[in-house]
Amino acid sequence: MGVAPARKALGRALIFLGPPGAGKGTQAKRVASQYGVPHLSTGDMLREHVAQGTELGGRAKPIMDGGGLVPDEIVLGMVEERISRPDCEGGFIFDGFPRTLAQAEALNRILDRQEFGRPAVIYFRVADDVLIRRLTGRRTCKLGGEIYNIYNHPPRVDGRCDNDGGELIQRPDDRPEVIKERLAAFEKQTMPLVGYYEALGVLEPVDGAAGISDVARSVAGILSRIEAIN
Ligand code: AMP
Repeated sequence: MGVAPARKALGRALIFLGPPGAGKGTQAKRVASQYGVPHLSTGDMLREHVAQGTELGGRAKPIMDGGGLVPDEIVLGMVEERISRPDCEGGFIFDGFPRTLAQAEALNRILDRQEFGRPAVIYFRVADDVLIRRLTGRRTCKLGGEIYNIYNHPPRVDGRCDNDGGELIQRPDDRPEVIKERLAAFEKQTMPLVGYYEALGVLEPVDGAAGISDVARSVAGILSRIEAIN
């Protein structure tokens, strides 16, 4: 009988930064399971609030439906509460957070308070035409959240998840008119974070236009390098 390999330690906040459709969610899910740490998608948390009909969800829904960004204080409150839970002690992965300079600065203060050091930031670079194709083709499993793409990563059976047979649905904000707004919000409000994290010396770019396994290899390479340095 083999001995299970020891889990690698993350021990930090890892941020997946990039435009919508860059593959952050797909890669974050993989890395989170490799390291046994939570995958924290603020988009998923907000969709959960909407689905449960909370007051916060009610405020966020019209903004999300239009492709804009939910106010910083809503997102920050949600994030600070989430990372103070015990399952985050060994580190965690942010997907889709921070998205504004104010969120990035507030996150640094939160990480200091909770005695995490500097975050590591992986920046997924992808051209707009590739993003649009990915977003319009994206389908998500209603049960487990597994992500597919009807063009380049289709499920084995049309409309059904390979893992659990769950129904595959299209996010309401993956419609072309909303995609345009989301890409504009990224350019205007999130792009400045690239310079911000570069100046802090923690930005690691990857070519997010490559296939899923190639991007996964680049991400793994960066993570081993970071582990070796620290
Ligand atoms: P995502 O699933 O990351 O594409 O997020 C879906 C939507 O949720 C976004 O278009 C925003 O409206 C909202 N959202 C998610 N994360 C954030 C964030 N960090 N700041 C503001 N709004 C967010």
